[in-house]
Amino acid sequence: MNPRDEGMGWIGVDLDGTLANYDEFRGDDHVGEPIEPMVERVKQWLAEGRDVRIFTARKPHPVIRKFCRDNFGKILPITNFKDQHMQANYDDRAVGIRRNEGIPFSEENEKQLFEEE
Ligand SMILES: [Mg+2]
Repeated sequence: MNPRDEGMGWIGVDLDGTLANYDEFRGDDHVGEPIEPMVERVKQWLAEGRDVRIFTARKPHPVIRKFCRDNFGKILPITNFKDQHMQANYDDRAVGIRRNEGIPFSEENEKQLFEEE
């Protein structure tokens, strides 16, 4: 099945702090331990035939492909670009905004991000 044929776009999933534990920068060759609830979510999407991509600002590095192989059994596309086919973006730094309203879904979520500064 080509997910595009079903009218579904790709799902962008951030790496650091979303799929992999992140506390501080430890080098390009380091990826933290997998965060199980998000890893399981991605596995479920893959089982459903969804197009899931690692959406990260990181430079390409073999350690990201290794993380994919170790946790998903295959290498997912890795990108730092979004396009009109991205259906959803899972990211620990994202604030979900009500489309065409400019209002966050969660003020608590937004507040939390700025309190970390
Ligand atoms: Mg992140």
